[in-house]
Amino acid sequence: MVTRRRVQSIAIRFYPPSYDIRVESVPMPQITHSDDAIVRIHLSGLCGSSLHVYRGHEAVDKMRVYFSGAYHTCGHEFIGQVVKLGSSFSVHTLRLPSLYAKLKTGDKVVCPFPTSCGVCQVCRSGFTCRCIQSKLFGSPALEGVQAQYIRVPSASGTLFNLSDPDAWPLSKLKQVSDSSLLLLADILPTGIFAAIQALSHSKVLPVPAAEPWPPHGKASKNIPTFAIIGLGPVGFCATIRFKIIAVDPIESRRNKMRSIYFEISDLGVSQEIFVVQSIEEVKETVHTWTSDVGCSAVLEVVVGNNSALTLAYELVQPFGSMSSVDAHGVHPFPLTGGQLYDKNVSFDFGRCPVRSLFPMAFELLSDESSLIDRIVGFDKAVEMYATFDKGEVGKIVFNPWKET
Ligand SMILES: [Zn+2]
Ligand SMILES: [Zn+2]
Repeated sequence: MVTRRRVQSIAIRFYPPSYDIRVESVPMPQITHSDDAIVRIHLSGLCGSSLHVYRGHEAVDKMRVYFSGAYHTCGHEFIGQVVKLGSSFSVHTLRLPSLYAKLKTGDKVVCPFPTSCGVCQVCRSGFTCRCIQSKLFGSPALEGVQAQYIRVPSASGTLFNLSDPDAWPLSKLKQVSDSSLLLLADILPTGIFAAIQALSHSKVLPVPAAEPWPPHGKASKNIPTFAIIGLGPVGFCATIRFKIIAVDPIESRRNKMRSIYFEISDLGVSQEIFVVQSIEEVKETVHTWTSDVGCSAVLEVVVGNNSALTLAYELVQPFGSMSSVDAHGVHPFPLTGGQLYDKNVSFDFGRCPVRSLFPMAFELLSDESSLIDRIVGFDKAVEMYATFDKGEVGKIVFNPWKET
């Protein structure tokens, strides 16, 4: 008698409460809904926000009440190839996302870290990360993507088809490596989002244009000063034009920021005034550059560190704006309403609507492979999580098919 061997997928699994990940065989994901796609994963990122799960900050015990189990596959950033599609993917109607009619097995896709249906009011407004059906990859609600295969729910509203010539210039697909395209899944759009939130705030908008606030006052000629706190991968991607102070307590990250900035300068997209500094240095620079007024806006892109929020408040000017894209976990908020009142500070929190920001991210995408520190196999997973958690390494990418 011939026994058919069941096909499995190898995955990096998280075991609560904290600091316990294991590489295991899991059942091959199956189509369970007509809107699903199964994707063979080429590369999967290790992201700073995954550390909230790893450190046990995600209130796993509470989640277990609502979901069938808290042991789940890690990760939320991937690029891969469609291998199977649900029955909805032959529907031709203008009312539905175009991928229902266009996506084929064999297409190369990149995926935002939360799913989105693409048709609800929230998605149509562009706020895809808060879709009413949204689920986060790498959580008890939805298996993560540090695996060989993944089931993508609401696949037509979630996936971006890199093989579709109508979606973006295919010539770019040949020029940009998979490891750089993977940055589209989270950190490049999230960096852009942090910058857009700060720049588009009604209090900050008039400053670059040297317009007064309110509109009939006297115009200010100040060049706006921005601080970016946290020079992990998202911090690199948040670099925006104007006077910028990039801040991180870790020297190796500061050195990497300087070297990447040097490369960007050669591409002609550099800032006029840009410095990379330690926490001690930044306070003196803000004092000198702004005559003690403070920064027009501060971008906080640090994972799970309340002292970054406190520093952001210290650096921001009255009527300034603070933009934070970190998923603040269990830590109590370190600022009070009274402190925000005292400076008339505006504070924008929140998850990036990655799917909506793809077109803008494409414009900035180049083959900056230096943003990726290492591409490793799953056999290095335990070591890489521990090293990344200590801040001793930058962006790590897993190749689930590689044996290192
Ligand atoms: Zn991420
Ligand atoms: Zn939706």
